[in-house]
Amino acid sequence: MVQTMTDSPSMDKCECGAAVGPLGGCVDYYHAILAEEQADPQMYKWHTVVVCAYLLQHPSKAHEKYLDVQFRLLQFYLDKGIDALLRLAAHQVARNKHRARSGYDMAPLAEYAPLPQSGSPGPFRAAFCGLPFKDGSFVSDGHPAYGCRIEIITEATVESWKTLQS
Ligand SMILES: [Zn+2]
Repeated sequence: MVQTMTDSPSMDKCECGAAVGPLGGCVDYYHAILAEEQADPQMYKWHTVVVCAYLLQHPSKAHEKYLDVQFRLLQFYLDKGIDALLRLAAHQVARNKHRARSGYDMAPLAEYAPLPQSGSPGPFRAAFCGLPFKDGSFVSDGHPAYGCRIEIITEATVESWKTLQS
């Protein structure tokens, strides 16, 4: 994506519009989450949600062709919950094992809103660089609290994108 003079980020603002936190911009929080969740299966439950929400808040880091599926996955998660999302992910993996060509089964996601085709949705009311990071951890107060914060970021992400719908 081409940056112009007018939309280049300032030093203390992330691409998503949020003020940077103690660790830096959202990209620094994102990498710290990915590192910590590798060693924590309970935290890893939210991996797909974290990836989709991060990319939808920072679309210049994303592959445009996947953003629509990622937007629908976040809506599916908000609608049906984390366990349903994990079952859906397992279903997709199993399905692709039995096919020569891999592809996403869009049927479970068909009822959700497609990604608006134009516009930039930020700022968001909750951002990754606002996540508390205590004692070198994102889950120092427990996994349910962490899950709640990721859910709030997800709601903020979907909400802002939906404002672009005509
Ligand atoms: Zn950001």
